[in-house]
Amino acid sequence: MIELQHLEKRYGDAFAVRDLNLVFPAGELTALLGPSGCGKTTTLRMINRLIEPTGGRVLLGGRDTRDFRPEELRRGIGYVIQQIGLFPHLSVAQNVATVPELLGWDRRRTARRVDELLELVGLDPAVYRIKKPAELSGGQAQRVGVARALAADPPVLLMDEPFGALDPLARDHLQEAFREIQRRLNKTVVLVTHDIDEALRLGDRIALMQAGSLAQFGSPDDLIHRPAGPFVRQFLGEDAALRQLAGRIAAEFVRPGDPSGLPVIEGTLDARSALGVMLREGTDALAVKRDGLFLGVLRWEELRTQEARA
Ligand code: ADP
Ligand code: MG
Repeated sequence: MIELQHLEKRYGDAFAVRDLNLVFPAGELTALLGPSGCGKTTTLRMINRLIEPTGGRVLLGGRDTRDFRPEELRRGIGYVIQQIGLFPHLSVAQNVATVPELLGWDRRRTARRVDELLELVGLDPAVYRIKKPAELSGGQAQRVGVARALAADPPVLLMDEPFGALDPLARDHLQEAFREIQRRLNKTVVLVTHDIDEALRLGDRIALMQAGSLAQFGSPDDLIHRPAGPFVRQFLGEDAALRQLAGRIAAEFVRPGDPSGLPVIEGTLDARSALGVMLREGTDALAVKRDGLFLGVLRWEELRTQEARA
């Protein structure tokens, strides 16, 4: 668990971050969301002490980060940034092995770990181990960056707009891949983004910042259905409920019911398209099937209230 207590960063008379109080729950992904310049990056970099606060403190597992040795912090906290900064002259494997080597792991353990991580992020080790960063697409390089950040198995992962520089298709893929990874690893993740869709899609919780302060902390559902004020409502926008469907598929919303007579869709259809089918067909329910079998019924109400089942 990461706890920010009265955290502050001031440059001259200007506050980049002001009296920020926040708890990032262990094992969850919290999206640190907000418009450009609201203090997200500054907050993130105060957690791993790349930036020194001018006030307040950061607790990591209950312990003040000032009491950690720098290498302890580096090992305990993975860090992923937008321009990942892979070492261009090193191979993919050598890039991923940076931290294990700093920690003095032996060759075999390091090699095993590298392969395991490349597989985890969806890169075939036999193909990618020996490649150089210049031979990778943006999405592949970002996967290597994630693998590198996870190398020493840190309990905490800080990510600053990690998918920001990718084209929409690569971003979708990588977000999906990362969701899978997080489902398995349950790291305590703080993901900085200015992209509402990304926050709704990946965040167990969202901390929405406004001008260095916290505007609202809550689940995606809280922010959409119980916005703390006009700024939150305005930032999320009119179609906030629809946005929450981003990245979800119809099968996630299916309930038992009689499918007879209803238009049929595949369970793998994304939820927003399913909503589109309802509008087109003038119906408030669809029959959902997968592999030729009926899964059940998808109702308009179910999509609207966002009560997806796992
Ligand atoms: P975000 O990541 O949300 O876009 P930042 O945390 O980078 O925002 O910046 C927050 C505010 O602090 C901005 O107004 C920015 O101009 C200011 N700021 C950031 N770094 C510095 C610095 N080194 N000196 C002066 N002002 C800074
Ligand atoms: Mg930033």
